[in-house]
Amino acid sequence: MEVKQIVSHMFGSNCYILSCREESAVIDPGEYSAELDSALGEIDYRLKYILLTHTHFDHMYGARKLKEKTGALLCVHELDIPGLTDYSLNIGYTGMKFCKNADISLSDGQILKLGSEEIKVIHTPGHTVGGVCFLTGDMLFTGDTLFAGTIGRTDFMGGSYTDIITSLRRIDALGDDLTIYPGHGPATTLKTERENNPYMGHMDNDSYFM
Ligand SMILES: [Zn+2]
Ligand SMILES: [Zn+2]
Repeated sequence: MEVKQIVSHMFGSNCYILSCREESAVIDPGEYSAELDSALGEIDYRLKYILLTHTHFDHMYGARKLKEKTGALLCVHELDIPGLTDYSLNIGYTGMKFCKNADISLSDGQILKLGSEEIKVIHTPGHTVGGVCFLTGDMLFTGDTLFAGTIGRTDFMGGSYTDIITSLRRIDALGDDLTIYPGHGPATTLKTERENNPYMGHMDNDSYFM
């Protein structure tokens, strides 16, 4: 699986293009930027899926235009689908237009095929109620659940600190090591986060409670 990262300069969110053989998917098109458009041009606008880690505006504002241009299927966890149309859930500005419906309602453990590879849906609530991570090979796309050195906010509607900590335990158990591609900021690894991220639960208490 090939990965290309495109940062939205409008929102500071990360968009990723995954490609395997002739098939491609986009994760979290926060913004339909010129950079995203030219990257899509390189794959002749052949896009199978638009995958959302969650339905906050900064991860899906570009999805409507992306869908119009490519006809790709919009995939959202069933519990985050209300966030497509509810502005109190997606924390968008009124006037921003989003896709109104998902084409595929995702649930935990679901497998999506891309080329000869698979993308697995891992339900990781806490930042939003229907937040997910996408696992393919040794790569994990974590949205706003896990960042390098920290985690996503849990004070938005549908957020839960207890749930995000449980979700981090699930991520921890996914393997010895994975490359982590978060929704904001630089990529990291699961090993690095076990060592440096206080929320992962592996550090001594007094090393971070200052
Ligand atoms: Zn978010
Ligand atoms: Zn975000």
